[in-house]
Amino acid sequence: MPNSHSSTVTYSPAYTIVPTYECFNRCTYCNFRTSPGQSPWMTLAAAESILLQLQSQKVSEILILSGEVHPHSPQRQQWFQRIYDLCELALGMGFLPHTNAGILTFAEMQKLKNVNVSMGLMLEQLTPALLQTVHRHAPSKLPEIRLQQLVWAGELQIPFTTGLLLGIGETKDDCWETLAAISDLHQRYHHIQEVILQPHSPGNQQTFDAAAFDPHQLPEVIAKARQILPPDITIQIPPNLVQDDGWLLACIEAGARDLGGISPKDEVNPDYPHIQEQALREILQPVGWELVPRLPIYPQFDNWLTGELQTAMKHWRTNIRDSKIVKKL
Ligand code: SF4
Repeated sequence: MPNSHSSTVTYSPAYTIVPTYECFNRCTYCNFRTSPGQSPWMTLAAAESILLQLQSQKVSEILILSGEVHPHSPQRQQWFQRIYDLCELALGMGFLPHTNAGILTFAEMQKLKNVNVSMGLMLEQLTPALLQTVHRHAPSKLPEIRLQQLVWAGELQIPFTTGLLLGIGETKDDCWETLAAISDLHQRYHHIQEVILQPHSPGNQQTFDAAAFDPHQLPEVIAKARQILPPDITIQIPPNLVQDDGWLLACIEAGARDLGGISPKDEVNPDYPHIQEQALREILQPVGWELVPRLPIYPQFDNWLTGELQTAMKHWRTNIRDSKIVKKL
């Protein structure tokens, strides 16, 4: 049972827009990608029509989640511009964009900072052993390149979400080392808002032939992560990948306090439908946990935003506060 100081579990009312599923990497556990040239890019007109419908649905976060175009591809500039334009469109329509588009250059991150309240990139696992297995054909998964992204996010003061993928061939010590690396970078830049612990959950498209990460191990990993990570970093778990109410509650007891973006579809794990807000509330409330919406930027980072981002964020902070007051009346 929670105590009165920690009885809140958060989630982000979100919708995911995918600029393109094409990706030049081939991670063997991937259930998202298509080969380059095989999936049409999301047009601004198509995105606008989706966003118009979302305006009446209390969705605050637009997650821009994209496969990667090779840095040296002639399409790269056009790909980046499409992502930027989609963020700008979402922001202009009152939403709070959060982009995760894989590996970016410093200049690309700097530009996206102007149209995103936060950004993200999973570290997954830092052990180089995976470069011989699941990441053999995934140049973007070089550990030093991914760590560099977190450094740049810190230098640019971009509130950042990262995380671990569990059950892709790592050892427990590999996990603790990856968490320690996140902790070290956060102590330098104070920019990591949350760490996702994502259990590998086999899907229809992947070629990686391994069982799902055993959810019974997740509370132990969460408890250890809670010891390694600074207290101001929230631990997030995806509830659709912990397919048992009891274990979901065990994960929360162990220290997870966020359930991530709840949207109509989990684009990364399309075989595992999201549990929607009301169903989550029904699991949590009877044992004393209150499920509350949050924004894709945590409050301690609000003063890192400027201009239009600051205005949009303030609007949503008021909106969330008012909806809580209305609920209590
Ligand atoms: S997991 Fe990400 S980087 Fe790897 S192939 Fe899939 S979309 Fe590309």
